[in-house]
Amino acid sequence: MIKVVKFGGSSVANSAQFKKVKDIVESDPSRKFVITSACGKESHEDHKITDLLYLCEAHVRYGVSHESIFNLVKDKYYRIKNDLGLVIDLDHEFEKIERQMERDLNRDFLVSRGEYLTGLCLAEYLGADFVDAADVIAFNYDGEINLDRTNELLERYCQSNNRLVIPGFYGAMPNGVIKVMSRGGSDITGSVIANIVNADVYENWTDVSGFLVADPRIIKNPIGIPCITYSELREMSYMGANVLHDDAVFPVRSKNIPINIRNTNEPSNPGTMIMDDCSEMDKIEPPRAVTGITGRKDYTCITLAKSHSSTEIGFLRRILSVFEDYHVSIESVPVTVDTFSIIVQSKAVDNCLYEIVNRLKKEVKPDDLKIEDHIALVAVVGRGMKAVPGASGRFLSEFGRNEINIKIINQTADELSIVVGVTNRDFEKAIKCIYDKFITEENTK
Ligand code: ASP
Repeated sequence: MIKVVKFGGSSVANSAQFKKVKDIVESDPSRKFVITSACGKESHEDHKITDLLYLCEAHVRYGVSHESIFNLVKDKYYRIKNDLGLVIDLDHEFEKIERQMERDLNRDFLVSRGEYLTGLCLAEYLGADFVDAADVIAFNYDGEINLDRTNELLERYCQSNNRLVIPGFYGAMPNGVIKVMSRGGSDITGSVIANIVNADVYENWTDVSGFLVADPRIIKNPIGIPCITYSELREMSYMGANVLHDDAVFPVRSKNIPINIRNTNEPSNPGTMIMDDCSEMDKIEPPRAVTGITGRKDYTCITLAKSHSSTEIGFLRRILSVFEDYHVSIESVPVTVDTFSIIVQSKAVDNCLYEIVNRLKKEVKPDDLKIEDHIALVAVVGRGMKAVPGASGRFLSEFGRNEINIKIINQTADELSIVVGVTNRDFEKAIKCIYDKFITEENTK
């Protein structure tokens, strides 16, 4: 059994968190590959090391003194070193960074130092081998990760029986220059390493016990999701629920490696398992009708009506091409006979809505064109709904009972989610009523 374990910024925010990481890693010998983010916030007022390094770079670039910001970075690592009794030569590490900053400022190099230093400290503390991500994570010049090359590079480190600590978030291009990923990219490093070493599971340790059925800012103490499929996860994240970097899914999904989201502050909680097929787990505990409830506010709906347009070939294509010309991504297109609604994020048409309307009038000459905004989309996601007659009826009647007017209904044939459009005002109420009916009530049966 091989596990790749990735610890997010809050899991390595200070020496107390390092101790928790050590307990977690050492409690399971299969936790062989340890990926770390840079130290995150210790408290609300604290700063993430990566944020400080980005800020530092901006100061250097504009010729403003960066000393006080860089000192905050230094203080954090000196504190961790002293608290944990490490011998790492931080003076030397910081000298190298400052020299590089003066000589030839390279933003990616500088911001990657958070993960690099956290990795060095953690490797020493765990008695593990440190592997610089620049030596193993290979980027092509186009910014894509080169899996074959990464595989070749990592291979020689895999001979060691010792545990390996690899900093997340960065790698190197073919010419050796350091390149960082997008924010939150350590999730991707973990996923790539899990792919390469054919891990049995990719554990992603963070500060929440996995995915929750609903947003805790709307539902007090929502229950967790024990198991979710990649497709459900995609629906949930697209509609606003976020724990994991989107690009972290592909490398593990392509090899059918499950991701286990875990909480460093509550290691006994099994968290959420994300896998392609949850059927084995579903046999032990059948899934609820609702895996998760999520959604977003602030959509705009543009509705066009024109008699006999349903039989007019190319009518919908002409509407959609107007949005394409303005690079506006379309969320959904509910259609009835001769009436077409186009739903887009309001911020996407902030500056071009009236131009789009004029173009639509010219292109398709509608009999009527209406714009409605302040629309929220609520997504009820659940593999347990598939082929269950009456599932959608039960949701919709719940909205009716709570006097929530439904403006839009959307469900595709895979039956994985039902998306309902309500006014922004009813957004929280809609999520609450579904949660109460399908989670709280079921739990108290
Ligand atoms: N430290 C980086 C960030 O803050 C990457 C990561 O934590 O995954 O975005």
